[in-house]
Amino acid sequence: MALTAWVGIALAALPPSAAPRLRPRPPVVVVDAGHGWSSLHRSYTGAYNRWADVHEDPLALDIARRLAGALSARGVEVHLTREGDQEPPDYNGDGEQTNRDRSYFALNLRRLRPQASQPGADLYVSIHLNASPDPSDRGTTVVYSEVGPAAEHVEESRRLAEAVYGQLTRVLPESAPPFAVNGLYMDRLALPHAVVEVVFLSNWADLQWILKAENRQTAAELVAEGIVEWWGSFPNPGAPPRPEGVPEAPRR
Ligand SMILES: [Zn+2]
Repeated sequence: MALTAWVGIALAALPPSAAPRLRPRPPVVVVDAGHGWSSLHRSYTGAYNRWADVHEDPLALDIARRLAGALSARGVEVHLTREGDQEPPDYNGDGEQTNRDRSYFALNLRRLRPQASQPGADLYVSIHLNASPDPSDRGTTVVYSEVGPAAEHVEESRRLAEAVYGQLTRVLPESAPPFAVNGLYMDRLALPHAVVEVVFLSNWADLQWILKAENRQTAAELVAEGIVEWWGSFPNPGAPPRPEGVPEAPRR
């Protein structure tokens, strides 16, 4: 009820000449496959991994690739932060391959990909698989950051997370509505973003579901639907400014 009232007030406050316009182009999306096979970032499942042969990062990569395909099929320009079973390349040149390279890539797309037709990314979505000490925890979780540079786009990130969550929970159990997780690398994402924990690998039913390729395809299609829905959900005056590429200083 409160939301309805707020929308009513907002529309009433618009002058007649400020009629909303549809966005004229598809978004440019950075798709991040969480983690990477080659290092300690390999998998979050760690202590909660009840099935030793199942790891997060190859599943994340598979879903990310499927998501890239699903978005491309919808006319969206997509860039993957990593193409294979390794950490993202050392995009920021600090001599290390860390999560800093993921945010640097999203914010410096034009510099890193001179052939890109667009000056930056409109949004960033990262694919992960969840894990919990409680084996009954299951379902989809979508989070975002609301502090640091990410605070500039917190409302758009929250709405993006809600759109993706709404799509995924058409077929997957709800875990918790989208919420902010601060203090991680997402704080540096000065653009709309969402981190999707598709299911819990520590839950047997979730695990069996996500191990089927057809279900990973379904998950990817639903995330793509959520992104497209979000992009079309608000008019041009609310379009996020394109990040021009503010480089992050190497840590050393
Ligand atoms: Zn993860």
